[in-house]
Amino acid sequence: MSGSASGGVSGVVNGGVSFWYADDGFPVRREPLGGDASADVVIVGGGYTGLWTAYYLKKAAPFLRVTVLEQKFCGYGASGRNGGWLYNGIAGRDRYAKLHGRDAAVRLQKAMNDTVAEVVAVAEAEGIEADIHRGGVLEVACTPAQLARLKAFHEHELSYGETDRELYGARETGERIRVVDAVGSTWTPHGARLHPVKLVKGLAAVVEGLGVTIHESTPVTEIRPKHAVTPYGTVRAPYVLRCTEGFTASLKGQRRTWLPMNSSMIATEPLSEAQWESVGWGGLETLGDMAHAYMYAQRTGDGRIALGGRGVPYRFGSRTDNDGRTQASTVEALREILVRFFPSLAGVRVAHAWSGVLGVPRDWCATVTLDRSTGLGWAGGYVGSGVATTNLAARTLRDLVQLDSGQAGATDLTGLPWVGHKVRKWEPEPFRWLGVQGMYATYRAADRRELGGYSAESSRLAQWADRVAGRH
Ligand SMILES: Cc1cc2nc3c(=O)[nH]c(=O)nc-3n(C[C@H](O)[C@H](O)[C@H](O)COP(=O)(O)OP(=O)(O)OC[C@H]3O[C@@H](n4cnc5c(N)ncnc54)[C@H](O)[C@@H]3O)c2cc1C
Repeated sequence: MSGSASGGVSGVVNGGVSFWYADDGFPVRREPLGGDASADVVIVGGGYTGLWTAYYLKKAAPFLRVTVLEQKFCGYGASGRNGGWLYNGIAGRDRYAKLHGRDAAVRLQKAMNDTVAEVVAVAEAEGIEADIHRGGVLEVACTPAQLARLKAFHEHELSYGETDRELYGARETGERIRVVDAVGSTWTPHGARLHPVKLVKGLAAVVEGLGVTIHESTPVTEIRPKHAVTPYGTVRAPYVLRCTEGFTASLKGQRRTWLPMNSSMIATEPLSEAQWESVGWGGLETLGDMAHAYMYAQRTGDGRIALGGRGVPYRFGSRTDNDGRTQASTVEALREILVRFFPSLAGVRVAHAWSGVLGVPRDWCATVTLDRSTGLGWAGGYVGSGVATTNLAARTLRDLVQLDSGQAGATDLTGLPWVGHKVRKWEPEPFRWLGVQGMYATYRAADRRELGGYSAESSRLAQWADRVAGRH
């Protein structure tokens, strides 16, 4: 790992799943599956999707026998590694507007706004202490092209009924946070900062307390109707729900379903009061930007900056990372973003770096489905917006199971446009790898071009990359 004279990335802890575990400790592993078993619902994957689904099912129908099977430990995936932006974004909303009409997409957006409040309320009701602070989401623009995109983005969000969103100029932005070169920002109240691992550990404990069976160190090798197969035995259940997001490609028959896209993060050492003084950020908003290869950041509960962005986007053959280790070049690139935003932090040390995988469908649309003929269900493809979306997906899976089993009728959630959405698979290798590498190289080139220029027009390169990737 390369170092630098002042601050820099020397001595950084790289991997170890994530900084959040270094901070809050690893959980004691639960017992693996001990042989063949049965349940009413079996959930594969112990991240937010799986755990929230178990939570809502058990709350709605305490008599249900619900089993969660997790390959490592609950929160091993993105749910224990993310940036802690609990916010109202959902992947695919614009496409759903095209497919199902604007009203349907507005209902989806409204459900997402409510979901942020729902997660905050449940955490509080269940006594989950996860450093939650509801300061909203602030996204800044630092170039003329970014400002033009920011304004368009702001208007676009308003058109989905987000009337409480605000647009700030350079001065108002500077009063909130001193990002050098920031020329404007947009803020929504529908967001909160949280500690991802405290949430996932707390949720797993609550779910267990409700009577859900959780088996860890239990990889599912194959999902078939009414069967979840593991090396230690098979769990039989009328409903088998796949909640494996960025790891889905490792399941039999799912190699090209969702592409595992990498995202990497760094966390600084805690900042001094004088350093916070130089940065501002008293509102603890989650922070993002308008670059094509965007960044996302939060001010942590213990006074650090945790900041993420794209690393090496995708590994050949849909492989995932090794317990969150990321490339030295990525750590350096993220530190450069930090220092570009806040030059006064040039001497701050990076304490930890890590990465994780997101699930990306071919059309970049999140989805939740229950196939009523087989009892197989799944939710995911959230791309980078899953901290809140997993909760909406889980309540929807609950409603779909209850609808199918005759315990309840259709609900507002079962009628949302992302329910039952179908999409084609990704291309076989090497086209998959070449396509993603090319797309992200293009985004980086577009950002470089915009940083150097004064034009307000977004780089055509990025628009081209979006089209090739199937994003628009
Ligand atoms: C670095 C990073 C930063 C992010 N930042 C944000 C953010 O700030 N805001 C936001 O909204 N979203 C963010 N995301 C996305 C968000 O974290 C995810 O969308 C969300 O956590 C997905 O939850 P999940 O339960 O569906 O998947 P995961 O949390 O990945 O859980 C899947 C679980 O399934 C288990 N599993 C996989 N395969 C098997 C198998 N075969 N058998 C048994 N178990 C299996 C895994 O071990 C894992 O625990 C980020 C993601 C990453 C990687």
